[in-house]
Order: sequence, then C-alpha cells, then structure tokens
Amino acid sequence: MGDPAYEEITREHPCYNKAAARWFGRIHLPVAPDCNIKCRYCTRLYDCANENRPGVTSHLMTPGEALQHVQRLVERDRCIRVVGVAGPGEPLANKATIYTLRLVHRRFPWLTKCISTNGLLLTESLPTLREAGVRAVTVTVNAVSPAVGSRIYDYVSYRGRVYKGAAGAELLWQAQSGGIRRARESGMVVKVNSVLIPGINDHHLEEVARAVKAAGAHVMNIIPLIPQGEFVGLLPPPPERVNLLRRKLSPIIDQMSHCRRCRADAAGRLG
Ligand code: SF4
Ligand code: SF4
Repeated sequence: MGDPAYEEITREHPCYNKAAARWFGRIHLPVAPDCNIKCRYCTRLYDCANENRPGVTSHLMTPGEALQHVQRLVERDRCIRVVGVAGPGEPLANKATIYTLRLVHRRFPWLTKCISTNGLLLTESLPTLREAGVRAVTVTVNAVSPAVGSRIYDYVSYRGRVYKGAAGAELLWQAQSGGIRRARESGMVVKVNSVLIPGINDHHLEEVARAVKAAGAHVMNIIPLIPQGEFVGLLPPPPERVNLLRRKLSPIIDQMSHCRRCRADAAGRLG
C-alpha cells in the first residue's frame, strides 16, 4: 500500500490484514440500535450492513456494560487489538457510540478503535470520532447512482426530513463520498463494504469501486447479499461470482476476501 499511516494502523487489524487475522482479534460492542436510513435488505433483527449471521440476534449493551465487557475480554484474551461499533443499527445515529468509544479509549488507549457506518453523518462526526480514538472507518456503499440507489434504499432521514427514492440515494452518496474523503484527509484508514445484490447492483459495483477509490478508500469488501427484508425473494450470489467480481475489481481497488460477516457483538479472532 506504501502508506505509513495505513501500515501502522492495519498491522494488527484482523479485517484489513489477512495475515494479522491469524493472531489478532477484535471486539464489536452492540450499543447502537437506531438507524437513519432504510436499506431494503435489512430487517434490523440482525446486524447492520449485513455484518451478521442469519438467525442470530444481538443483544444491546449500555456504554458502561460495554466497557466492562472490553475489560473482561482483554484480560482473558491477549489477542484483542481492535474495538469497534458495527450496529446493530447505524453507529453514528446513536449517541451511545461516541460515549462508549470515549470510555474505551480512555481506559485502553493502545487498542485501535473502529466503526462501521452508512456514512450519512460521517463528515460531521469526524472530530468526535478522532477524539474518541477512532482510526479505522468502514462505510457501506451499495450504489453511487441515484437510480440504482433508489432500488436499494427505501428512505434516508436527515436533519428532520425524510428523502425517498433517487433524492435519498443521491443525498446518501454525497454524504458518503464527502465522509470518505474527509476521513482519509484526517489520517484514518477507510474500508468500503458493498453488498452484492443480484439484479440490482451487480453490474454497478465496478462504478462503485472507481468512485470510492477516487474518494480515497483504501480497500473494498464485497459482501454477498443475505436475502431478507424486501429482498427475501432474491437468490444470494454464488461464491464463484463473488470471487470473480473481486478479481475483476482488484486492479481498481484492493479487495478484502476474508470477511466473516461478524455479528455486532462478535469477539475474538475472526470466525
Ligand atoms: Fe439496516 Fe444498517 Fe441499512 Fe440501517 S444502515 S437499514 S441498520 S443495514
Ligand atoms: Fe472484519 Fe468483516 Fe468481521 Fe467486520 S464483518 S469485523 S470487516 S471480518
């Protein structure tokens, strides 16, 4: 990658560094139940951005419980290097996210703090995220075209207004691209998750790859759809198709291939 900040932050981060995943682990803290958009594949029974395993529902923690949870796990398991918030809703739509990360950062400044977000509030959250020690951000970008996005997002709720259809999708992508750019400028590492939705955005992900690379993302993680919500009738893409697409897009932006679609309360080494 040739970027010293990237090398330093990802050296022991199991999601950005496949080799590190053998030795180092992460903790997800399920403190964020609310969301500010509606993805048509989401039932909210599971975790945000398809970072889930079907049939498993996360329980919520308060910030205080989350801190105690980190304390217990770090004492028990010396592999922990990363603490993140990835749901079960949208981390940045919940005040508990920053509060929790601040508590954890104060007590464990050496652990890397991480969030996974839909990006709608990323730019305005960056100062508080930095103050809470966040150095790695994942933004879920499923579409950069309003026409495609309008088939994926039912609505986007921003500053007291609800945006439907192409207007919502356009607003979301503008916020995501600005957030990715500003997160990069502020020295964070940025991963993009893209849910591969057959018949909806499969032929669009090359455009997504180019756009997120241009905005400054370091790596892309293509996640096969788990059919649920309004997309329950779609078939999940077969693994060969996902791998083929990763190979096709890897000259545009580095591809992650070892994502385990973890729950919002996952802990330890991946898998
Ligand atoms: Fe569900 Fe996450 Fe989409 Fe919100 S951003 S609707 S929690 S998948
Ligand atoms: Fe890492 Fe993927 Fe698990 Fe997120 S869902 S913690 S990116 S392996």
